[in-house]
Amino acid sequence: MKLHPYIGRFAPSPTGPLHLGSLVAAMASYLDAKVHGGTWLVRVEDVDRDRNVAGADQHILSSLQRCGMQWDGDVTWQLQRQDLYEAALRQLGENIYPCACSRREIADSQLRLGQAGQPNLVYPGTCRQGLAPGRTARALRLRTPQQPHCIIRFHDRFAGDISQDITAEVGDFVIRRADGFWAYQLAVVVDDGAQGITDIVRGADLLDSTPRQIFLQQLLGLPQPRYLHVPVVVNADGEKLSKQTGAQAFDTGAPAESLLGSALLPAARLLGLAIQAETIDAFWRAAVPAWDAVLRAHGESPHRP
Ligand code: GLU
Repeated sequence: MKLHPYIGRFAPSPTGPLHLGSLVAAMASYLDAKVHGGTWLVRVEDVDRDRNVAGADQHILSSLQRCGMQWDGDVTWQLQRQDLYEAALRQLGENIYPCACSRREIADSQLRLGQAGQPNLVYPGTCRQGLAPGRTARALRLRTPQQPHCIIRFHDRFAGDISQDITAEVGDFVIRRADGFWAYQLAVVVDDGAQGITDIVRGADLLDSTPRQIFLQQLLGLPQPRYLHVPVVVNADGEKLSKQTGAQAFDTGAPAESLLGSALLPAARLLGLAIQAETIDAFWRAAVPAWDAVLRAHGESPHRP
């Protein structure tokens, strides 16, 4: 039987060291690649220069290796791929327009339109027909179809069938930010396409971004990968575990084997994997079939070569 080629990725932003929340996403994408006999790439998503922390990329990479997760091929950095984003912007052509609105102005118009309860800040289309006299262009936005609305439906391997009306729930969205940096949505789609990613496994906090990414894939003529969003780890206050909410990083100075108890086993537990292991090698030998069992419980039957 010919196997569907599988290329997965972990795409950390270098805003701080790896922590339990990001390790869960890394582990899920790594295990999914292994269960499918696939390739696992690592891409450092450093387009948001203001949030980058010097040395965080190397710290994350060394933590992955110390946890026993070795990527395939070379690591890529988004800051080295700016030409690709520039080319995608050109390809989007007429769908792109300059926008002068600040976040504050958008929030105010949402209030005026009586849409304050919306989870997202929906862009009201102020600059879609051109900038008003005296206004200065800040960001670049992508036009979303108005009639009919742009409704994206997709199947998530964990979350099931998802649908989002981008026109009503998001509005025209930013492709290049007011500070000149490329928006995450554009960079991630261009890179996933250029790297031939077939399977995206990441945290459920990005579920809401996925329809925008699928819409961009359609405009850029890129194939749509399969998606699996794993539940996001929250702290005792119900906040997403992240560097911002003080999630603990790993002690890279600690002996590698101590990462088994401090990082790998807790992350596996959060993914619903019941694993007992005395060494990091034994952990991974047990984790691959355990992930396979989780997928089967979701009605999938992965094939390993
Ligand atoms: N760079 C993003 C983050 O660290 C993840 C992007 C993705 O997996 O699509 O949250």
